[in-house]
Amino acid sequence: MAIAVNGKADLHTHTTASDGTQPPAANVRLAKEAGLAAIAITDHDTMAGVEEAIAEGERIGITVVPGVELSTVAEGRDIHILGYYTDWRAALWQERLAGLRSTRDQRNDMIVERLVQLGVSITMDEVIHAAAMEGAGDDKGKGGGPDRAAGKTIGRPHIAAVLLNKGVVSSMKEAFDLYLAEGAAAYVNPPRLHPFEAIEWIKEAGGTSVIAHPGLYGDDELVETIIQRGIEGIEAYHSDHDTEAEARYVAMAERHGLLVTGGSDYHGERQGKVFHGAIGSRTVDADVLQQLDKRARA
Ligand SMILES: [Zn+2]
Ligand SMILES: [Zn+2]
Repeated sequence: MAIAVNGKADLHTHTTASDGTQPPAANVRLAKEAGLAAIAITDHDTMAGVEEAIAEGERIGITVVPGVELSTVAEGRDIHILGYYTDWRAALWQERLAGLRSTRDQRNDMIVERLVQLGVSITMDEVIHAAAMEGAGDDKGKGGGPDRAAGKTIGRPHIAAVLLNKGVVSSMKEAFDLYLAEGAAAYVNPPRLHPFEAIEWIKEAGGTSVIAHPGLYGDDELVETIIQRGIEGIEAYHSDHDTEAEARYVAMAERHGLLVTGGSDYHGERQGKVFHGAIGSRTVDADVLQQLDKRARA
């Protein structure tokens, strides 16, 4: 498929393939409605939503960028590494993504266990149910509902949703602040992929690596270390970056000769509120796609 070079691209969105609330095709339609030339699907540790998105993109005429957001940990900190245009059907790459997902499941079990120890009445079944119910109304007759949970990624937002439904907390934010955020009471972080490894995996899968939302780590020294290890781009534009952070990371990218990317980090809506940002609320010029797609350059 031809790559869009004119117009705007939102290079960071989540779908029901991970912890977003909208199916992949819906993200693509929202991007079209927002007047974008391209949209990336970047679910956590899975590319299961990419095929559906590409098909919808071809149908309605918008470029879909195959992507993924890898969960990694460095110095006890959650670091997200975006991978674009990996050969997403390659067996080794798929195997590696599956490994990351099983670590994530293990982590969910540990968080639920910790919550129970803290006196909160919650079970993993309730979390799985919360994930399954989400977005179930969006694609009736297409495997929506509980069945869909089998292939989707369950994460902290689903645990937060259960806490909210049970009245343990009064908002998603409170669920994170009190229990789920880094350093909060039920936060656990089992051994996981290091960002340096993620960079290598993405390279080996033929893709381009980008450090996601560096402003959220509060540690530019660590960001610089990751740059030294071969990251190819910086997500300077993100819903949780202010203009000062945007300028700082654009400058950092320039200093190191790296690509500048950006995106909304759209996760759909929860309780009528857009999580992170709406599709198209953060964009970059679509001509960056030519740099992200190594095969197009070859
Ligand atoms: Zn992220
Ligand atoms: Zn994200």
